[in-house]
Amino acid sequence: MRKAECLKMQKISPTTKIAKLAKTTTSEKNYYGKAYKGLYHYYLRAVMTHDLVKISLFNAEWIKEGNKESQYDIFIDTEDCRYISAEKNKDGSVKSWRTAMINNLISWESYYYRSYKATSWSNEATDKKFRKALGQKGKAFQAVSNYQSNILAERIKKKEAKECAEWDRDMKPIKELPKNFKDWIRRKCIKDHFIFYRYSKNIKKGFCSLCNCEVDISGMEPKNNKKDVCPKCKSRVTFKSAGKIKTLTSGVAYAQMVQAYPGGHVIRYVRARMYYRRSEYWAPLIDIYEYRRAIHGNAAHSDYAWDKYKNKCMRWLPTMSSWYYDDAAVLYPRGINLLPNAEHLKEITKTQHQEISIGKWSKRMVRGSLYEKLANAGFYKLLCELINRYSWELEEFTEDSELHKALKLDKMRLKRLKAMNGGSRELEWLQTEKRANRIWPDEMIRLFSDAGYNTRTFSFISDHMTYPQIWEYLKKQYRDHGYTWDYTYTCWRDYIDMAKKLKIPLDLERNYKPKDVRISHNEALDMLQGKDIEAEARRIDRKWKKLKRTYPKLEKYEYTGKEYQIIAPKSTGDIVREGMILKHCVHSCDFYFDRISTNESYILFLRKVSDPKQPYYTLEVEPSGNIRQKRTTGDRQNDDFKDAKEFLARWQRAIQKKLSKEDKALGKKSNDLRIKELKELRKNGNRVWHGVLQGKLLADVLEADFMPVMQEAQ
Ligand SMILES: [Zn+2]
Repeated sequence: MRKAECLKMQKISPTTKIAKLAKTTTSEKNYYGKAYKGLYHYYLRAVMTHDLVKISLFNAEWIKEGNKESQYDIFIDTEDCRYISAEKNKDGSVKSWRTAMINNLISWESYYYRSYKATSWSNEATDKKFRKALGQKGKAFQAVSNYQSNILAERIKKKEAKECAEWDRDMKPIKELPKNFKDWIRRKCIKDHFIFYRYSKNIKKGFCSLCNCEVDISGMEPKNNKKDVCPKCKSRVTFKSAGKIKTLTSGVAYAQMVQAYPGGHVIRYVRARMYYRRSEYWAPLIDIYEYRRAIHGNAAHSDYAWDKYKNKCMRWLPTMSSWYYDDAAVLYPRGINLLPNAEHLKEITKTQHQEISIGKWSKRMVRGSLYEKLANAGFYKLLCELINRYSWELEEFTEDSELHKALKLDKMRLKRLKAMNGGSRELEWLQTEKRANRIWPDEMIRLFSDAGYNTRTFSFISDHMTYPQIWEYLKKQYRDHGYTWDYTYTCWRDYIDMAKKLKIPLDLERNYKPKDVRISHNEALDMLQGKDIEAEARRIDRKWKKLKRTYPKLEKYEYTGKEYQIIAPKSTGDIVREGMILKHCVHSCDFYFDRISTNESYILFLRKVSDPKQPYYTLEVEPSGNIRQKRTTGDRQNDDFKDAKEFLARWQRAIQKKLSKEDKALGKKSNDLRIKELKELRKNGNRVWHGVLQGKLLADVLEADFMPVMQEAQ
């Protein structure tokens, strides 16, 4: 703006009409300082040349004091669409030049004096002038305000268009995903596969979602949700009766692909999921969501995320090249040649579902590193697991040039690791074995590793038993009673914990190695019931001081239907009583109280309306209403629960209205925590090894128990 020219413009004084009106404005002292009463605090007058408008704002107080000067002069260049304001001293000199809009010039005063609402006055002739010069409607003040907002909006639009153009230029060389990409996702990334069948007396044909064609299943006795192996592709599959599914969803798969980019390459990250519908289970929808593009080449920004742009639209936005984005994912085989050590990556892509973080690969696969040695020796599973780790998870490996020494093994154990195609868990077991100077069965190491067990898993009992003895015990509990390893493990650990509290002598074999782990677990629970409920509750309340404050908040989750009702605990004693009567471990497992204290999840009771005092099912519920777990007598879930499912879905809908913003935020956090935990379990591939759920991912077992209100954030 031409300040000098502005200052040369004609001087404006308040009219007699304005001076008269100003007298009606009075002020009085209040708590904040001054409070104005009266009609208007500001009076507007204007003059204009062919391309400049000068608006003077007269302060009522100043006029009353007999001052003829304006407090602010605003100059608008109607040709260049620019504006500037002069804040003035009472002698008419310029105090400072300001770029703020008219509303913001005076808003601090209305804020400061609280009781005063900034109003302004201008006469009809002035308003007319403004409307004409600025092309706006309304009174003068409003016309200036609108005109300035438009200029600002235009400026932002231009700035946005400029930055978006730059980002679009970076995105332009990136082509469509390859035509066979979806099919590759289905074959190599998606882990859950199904054989669909139509119910009949003698079922002969089924449709395998991995083979993508009909397969012969005569003699296989398909049952809905039964696990089996596809006779054609030999992969683990789940039978699904087509009549029973509505929409079936697979777990989320992560994939990445490398494509050429000017000056280098781009790595594209996607999440994918399959949806099968009853009517067309042979033609599933594959939902592919690309969420990140990392460019190593000639681009203005190296990292882009698909994200919301200024709350307006979704688009590719430059983002911090952050470590947490270095997700491990299955690598699409084409384009690998653009990456360092491509020959090894080719080997890695040959393994089904093997995930690798390319970001970390590029940083860590340096000459002479342990990673390079592992690759050269063909330890691809271990290599991927170590590469994918966060830097703080990386164990100290020695710098030794010989691989077996670097891994803290010997030559014989290195051979065994290779033979079992071991990963980091197998390595840890072999290292422990070496330190203990023992030889343990390879099969035990392999199965323990697959189940996700390490030495810390058994720390509760390893003082009393060797690992092969533990293995034998787990196998025997399955053989004799049909308990899965995970069931035996949890029951056993809880039993030992309770036995310590009950002072049962644990140096006796029959006490630390009970014949039937379930019976001993429940007997110990019975004995603990003898302890005063209130005393136990007091102990818990002392440990988690926030509990007492949490219970009143749970009242809003209560709900009564025709047959069932949800009751919230009023005290820790209620939870202890419920757990003791149903003989599950909610009250004796500390982490449930930990979760309540941190608002990660709550405990609620499902009861029958006909018998509201009798514990029926205990629910672990996220603040949003998502149900994580439902348990009844002896840690089991009975068939009768299916009846209550509909009621619970209704309850979830009903409480949504009662939830506060805070509850929803907590719910989101809790949801994220659970997804992270499940993802971790899934990545580690922890599986249930025996019993009815054999071969099932532990994460699937937990997820099957889960009843969401919210859709997972996609
Ligand atoms: Zn198949």
